[in-house]
Formats: sequence, C-alpha cells, structure tokens
Amino acid sequence: MNPEARTALLAHYDAVRRDLPWRGESDPYRILVSEVMLQQTRVDTVVRYYEPWLRRFPDVESLADADVDEVLREWEGLGYYRRARNLHAAVRAVRERPGGEFPETALELRALPGVGEYTAGAVASIAFGEVAPAVDGNVRRVLSRWFDEPEPTVSWLRARATELVHLTRPGDWNQALMELGAVVCTPRNPKCAVCPVSKWCAARAAGSQAERPVRARKPRVRAVDMLLVVLQCDGRVLLVRRPDGGLLGGMWAFPESEMTLGAGAGPTPTEEMEAEIATVVRGLDAAIVGPPLPLETVVHRFTHLHVTYRPYIMKATATVADGSGRAWVSASEAGALAIPVAQRRVLDQLTWEVR
Ligand code: SF4
Repeated sequence: MNPEARTALLAHYDAVRRDLPWRGESDPYRILVSEVMLQQTRVDTVVRYYEPWLRRFPDVESLADADVDEVLREWEGLGYYRRARNLHAAVRAVRERPGGEFPETALELRALPGVGEYTAGAVASIAFGEVAPAVDGNVRRVLSRWFDEPEPTVSWLRARATELVHLTRPGDWNQALMELGAVVCTPRNPKCAVCPVSKWCAARAAGSQAERPVRARKPRVRAVDMLLVVLQCDGRVLLVRRPDGGLLGGMWAFPESEMTLGAGAGPTPTEEMEAEIATVVRGLDAAIVGPPLPLETVVHRFTHLHVTYRPYIMKATATVADGSGRAWVSASEAGALAIPVAQRRVLDQLTWEVR
C-alpha cells in the first residue's frame, strides 16, 4: 500500500477525530467495556452509558464481584443482554488468571467469553500496541470500497487489514479506519470529497462506491403478538426469571405467551386471549379474582423479531413464589431488578395500589 495513504489517514484522524469518552484510554478493562458496548449499539447511546457504568464498575475487580442481576440492571437499555453476561464472565476469567493479569495479546484475549476476533484485535492494539487488525462493520465497508471488492470474505478482510495495520501506531490506525467508516465513508452518500484516502480509493475511481460492499439480502423480520400476564396482589406483581441463554436470558419479566397475530387487538380480550390467559395463570399456580383488563400495548423491535406486547392486568391471590425464578415484587423491588425495556414500559403503567 502507498505509505502516503497511511500517513494521510492517520493525520486526518489526529486532526478531526470525535471526542469520545474512551478516546486516549489505555486501560484494557475500560477499552473492553467500550468495545463490548459498541457492538450493535449506536455511539451516542454508548456515550450515555459508558461513564455511569465505569462509576459503578470502575475496574475488573468491582465488576467481577458484582451479582449478575446488578450487572444486567446496569446494562438495561443497551439491549443485547448477552453482551453484559459475557463481559461479566470475561472479567471473572481475567481475575482467575495468574496474578489477575489482563491478557495482552489478541490470541489470549480471544479465550475470554464473548471476545471475538474484532474485539480482541481492538483491545490488543489499543491497550497494548499489538500490531493486530480489527475489522468491524465500518472497517469492512471502508476496505471493500478502498479496494473495490464487492463481496469481501472474512479471510480477504483479515488479509487486507493485516497488511494495512500501522506498525508503530496500530491502535490509532484501527480506530482511524473505524472512524473513517463511521463519519466519512458512511453506508449511504460517502463523503469522498473530504476523504483523506480518496486518491487511493479504487471504488471512487471506478464510481462504484455506492454499490460497495454488495448488500446481503436482509433476513425476514418475524412479527409476533405476545400476551403478557400482569398478576397484581397487594401492591405487588408477579415476575418470572427468563431462562439463561435465550432471548433476554436471566432477566425478570411478566409471564408471557406468543399469540396468533391480531389475537389480542381491541379493548376487550378475545376468546382466544382469555383462554391463553387462563392457561398461563394455571401454569403459575395462581388464582385470579378479577377480570383481565388491557393495558397499553408496547411495541419492541429485536433484530429479527418485531414484538407487540399485549399486557393484561388482573387481580390475583398471591401464591408463594417457589424461589426458583418467580417473585412477587413491589415497585421499589422492581426498580432494582434487570427488566427488559419494553416490559418496564408496562410496569410504568401500573398504579401499585395495595388493597
Ligand atoms: S473515497 Fe469515498 S468510497 Fe473511498 S474510502 Fe473515501 S469515502 Fe469511502
């Protein structure tokens, strides 16, 4: 590669990089936190969560000591909760290492739970100066255009990024490529006129930048209606803990059941909905003592799932929760639990009266 291109990109990064809270950071734990938060989440969202998280969990020790419920609670709103569980497991794994030393190479970092090739390369290069590539979605787009490669494979990207990585400023180099993709070489309407590598960009020369990389067809998003059963008794509601490993694993939520699309639409429950409510309630060993009343529906989009939550509230006699994943909680107790954002919007509708 033309060395001038490298110099031009680094100079551009030095001059106009965004002032983000994790810029200039050399603590590997803090870099790992920022990289994990940034996976699948917008920068402006992460900016709001990053510093509060570090105030609560300033280092490996404090996060490793924390209970998983609290970790999920602090993560609430960032979504993709598996990342929080993996981050928690990763710092516990770091603590178990000889002397509690943070792994310094991309190879060692890959052994931590949830740390993939990209995150390992980013942490190793930024925190420890390892000459390792880090290819995220932004870098993939930049390299595809820079070399006019329509369908870059993982091995092609790894090879290009490895050739390019700067030998003395690998961390800055990786961040410069990511920053270029985030700010200049954007998915739509790349700003080629102000791009520091435009002179060397093959796609720009060919006029093909808008078609690079070729977009994969998006997987279909499935739409579902989800019944939420809100049992209320003496100022408390029943929450169940979701199984580990699945969607929103380990979080607390209302009992739910997937319905036929449109089954619950309308101000009164349909027969189908009433029957399903009865089935869910039976499974909870509870008894309802009032009619199910609809609360406002809440819509939430997951990556491949578009869920319309249809909550129904009803008074119930409180059964003794079995202690293994069910709890009758007050408003303040619910405030301290990790609860999915959409379900917290249902909680916010409650009056919490004690009868
Ligand atoms: S010249 Fe345009 S297409 Fe090429 S890297 Fe720069 S912004 Fe992207």
